[in-house]
Amino acid sequence: VETGEYRSGEGPRLALIFPPAMHPTSPPLGLASLKAFAAASGAPGSVRLFDLNLAHYQQALRWLDQGRLKMRLGQWDASTTAREVGAACRFFRGQPGSGSFLDPAAYNRQASAYRSFETVLNGLFDNFARRLSLDAAVPPLGRAYFEELLAGVRAFRPDLAGFSILFSQQLHFALALARALKEAGVRVIFGGATLAVMPRPERLLAEPIPISLGRERRRLEPERALDFLLVGEGETGLAALLEDPGQPDRVPGLVYSVGGRVRANPPRMITDLNQLPLPDFRDLPLAEYHSPRLVLPYLSSRGCCWGRCAFCTHQKTYLAYREEAVDRTVSRLAELKSRHRAAHFALVDEMIHPRRFLRLGRRLIESGLEINYSAYAKPTRSFSRPVLETLARSGARVIMWGLESASQRLLAAMKKGTRFQDADRVLIEADRAGIWNLVFLLFGFPSETREEWDQTLDFIERRRAQIAALSKSRFVLLAGSEVFRRPEEHHIVEIMDRPERDPISIAYDYRVSQGLSQEEVAALYKEARARLDRCGRSPHGGLFRDHLLIQASELAGLSPGTRPAGRASS
Ligand code: SF4
Repeated sequence: VETGEYRSGEGPRLALIFPPAMHPTSPPLGLASLKAFAAASGAPGSVRLFDLNLAHYQQALRWLDQGRLKMRLGQWDASTTAREVGAACRFFRGQPGSGSFLDPAAYNRQASAYRSFETVLNGLFDNFARRLSLDAAVPPLGRAYFEELLAGVRAFRPDLAGFSILFSQQLHFALALARALKEAGVRVIFGGATLAVMPRPERLLAEPIPISLGRERRRLEPERALDFLLVGEGETGLAALLEDPGQPDRVPGLVYSVGGRVRANPPRMITDLNQLPLPDFRDLPLAEYHSPRLVLPYLSSRGCCWGRCAFCTHQKTYLAYREEAVDRTVSRLAELKSRHRAAHFALVDEMIHPRRFLRLGRRLIESGLEINYSAYAKPTRSFSRPVLETLARSGARVIMWGLESASQRLLAAMKKGTRFQDADRVLIEADRAGIWNLVFLLFGFPSETREEWDQTLDFIERRRAQIAALSKSRFVLLAGSEVFRRPEEHHIVEIMDRPERDPISIAYDYRVSQGLSQEEVAALYKEARARLDRCGRSPHGGLFRDHLLIQASELAGLSPGTRPAGRASS
């Protein structure tokens, strides 16, 4: 590793980049936290944030409007598509005259157009990104598009570019953008939650990266796109790298290569979350996100205090569970509220346990801080009626519950630590308290029977009035999960690797000795989609969770079953 001279002569210039493609409804928290930490630790140089995911959507809209990008959705011709997509985005951003955000019918219509738009857009540009990474033929439009997308980053003249990769759909965009920057002499770091849950992230640097182009399989030499990986919590590693990039062996969590050999330093954990500075979102264009109100994400704990669900790898994103003191959380939320005039917060903790949730709710009430927030939780008995009423008074508008199944046997097999009867009561009580329920469902857990599948579907229909949104998924066997580590306990008799594996994919195929097969699960899930889509305020509510928070806040106190339609967004 060569230290090299920084172009500015004033310390390193670091561009922190959030690559496409995911719904740009709120700003990326990881980038804002890293920037704040680098500043607070006195690291030299300057750090600037670039949300290229939002920029990608904004640029596509501009190009559609100018006729530079032509798209046809369904029966619409190109100009109708451009008009309708523009209208859907204006609706999402709450622009005057774009329609009522609180009217479920209007919302569904616009969300469907938006979903079709982003599916086509991201599919097209993901393909261009793969081609750019591999030096394959790309239409001039694709090349010009990525160049324009990078213009702001290039103008900043970075020495280093750090990509925050949360989901696998960001990988190919990140590789294409990274390659372009690396060709201009910028050193590139990949980090983010996706790397943290990969069993051997160093593979990304050590082996040619397989990339599919249609049916063809090609390889990208890692050194053409990447210099470093930063695995685990990025704060201390990034600050150390800024301090002295010539000493990679001293950078916690850094994966780097020396003389053709890849080395990985152990990550370092921040033990006291109360020492962390306020996330700094100020580089980001906060008024441009695709939600009618600004929703700021906030993380008040790291890891999961339960950490036992057999299907889950989320708890591995962090090395251990830690909490911020609730007083500190309340004061941080107050600072963010006043700095950005924000009244909506998405608490993105993996799961807030009931005792802490109650403490937080009480402190929020005592502080008089008027905010609306959403949070993730497990529906256990401790969420009693008085607790839920306190949470509602404190501003909890949406709680996203990990219900998973209506079968007690399956809940036990999943090691959820919940009782179905308690979960059912929690949904009813939360709804009565005026909190909107978003319910997570997991279909096809190994050994699930057809009867148990139907039991969950029937339950969801029975509780329709109390459910504002569903987030449904099929079970996927992930490396690192308990099911993967102890397959025999979960009636899995064979685990098969996938020949066409994406470089950061950790999903495997499997065969079970009892219950529904993987193929039966896929077929039943397809069949159940229409029934599931009818449950909740909108079939898109589980995807656009920031929107659900805004809707619930504006109709605060009303349960999903009693909400009026057609009220204008104020
Ligand atoms: S599913 Fe949620 S509660 Fe269960 S281990 Fe994962 S993060 Fe924790």
